[in-house]
Amino acid sequence: MGKLIIFSAPSGAGKSTIVNYLLSQNLNLRFSISATSRLPRGEEKHGVEYYFHTPEEFRQKIENNEFLEYEEVYKDKFYGTLKAEVQRIFDNGGNVIFDVDVVGGCNIKKYYGDKALSIFVEPPSISELRNRLISRGTDSPEIIEARVAKAEYEMTFASEFDVIIKNDNLEEAKAKALQVVKEFLAT
Ligand code: ADP
Ligand code: 5GP
Repeated sequence: MGKLIIFSAPSGAGKSTIVNYLLSQNLNLRFSISATSRLPRGEEKHGVEYYFHTPEEFRQKIENNEFLEYEEVYKDKFYGTLKAEVQRIFDNGGNVIFDVDVVGGCNIKKYYGDKALSIFVEPPSISELRNRLISRGTDSPEIIEARVAKAEYEMTFASEFDVIIKNDNLEEAKAKALQVVKEFLAT
C-alpha cells in the first residue's frame, strides 16, 4: 500500500496550483479524482478534475456506501472521495494525493493515521483570497462571496493538520510543499 498526501484549504488559497506542481515532480503521486454534484466549470472534464454527477446519482452513491468520505461543502454542492478511486491508485502502486475540504481532510487523516500527511494551505489574508478567486475568473460573484464567507470558519481547522504552508509567495510555498512531501515519502 502506498502513502497518502492530503491538501486542504479555503477555496482560492492555492491548493490546486500546489497539487498540480507536485504531480509534475516524479514522486509517483496520483491525484484522487473526487465525485461532485457541482457542474463543470471552464474546460473541466468528467474523469479528469472530477467525476461529475447529478444530485440524484451522488445520492445513490451515498446509499451504496461508495464513499470513504463526503461533504456538502457548499449549499447543495456535494463532494466525496470514492473508496474505489483510492483502491485503484494503490492497486497501480501509486501514492495518493487529495485536494479536499478541511473536514474531509481531517477525516481522511484520522482514517489512515501515520500513512497520511495532512497539509493545510494558508492564504495570506481573506481579502487576498477574494482577489485570487476573482482573478482566477472561474466563478460568479455570488459563488465567490459564498466561498469567502466560509473561509474564516475553514481557517480554524489549520491547527488540526500535520503541516501548515503559508501561500504568500507561490515559489516558496511550492518549494516547502516539495520538501515536506519528499521527506514524508522517504520515511
Ligand atoms: P484552490 O485550489 O485552493 O481553490 P487555486 O490553486 O485554484 O486555489 O488558486 C486560486 C488562484 O490564485 C489561481 O488563479 C492561482 O493561479 C492563484 N494563486 C495561487 N497561488 C498564488 C500566490 N501565491 N500568489 C498569487 N496568486 C496565486
Ligand atoms: P471546487 O468546487 O473549487 O473544485 O472545490 C470546492 C471545495 O471542495 C474545495 O475545498 C475542494 O478541496 C473540496 N473537495 C473537492 N473534492 C472533495 C472531496 O472528495 N471531499 C471533500 N470533503 N471535499 C472535496
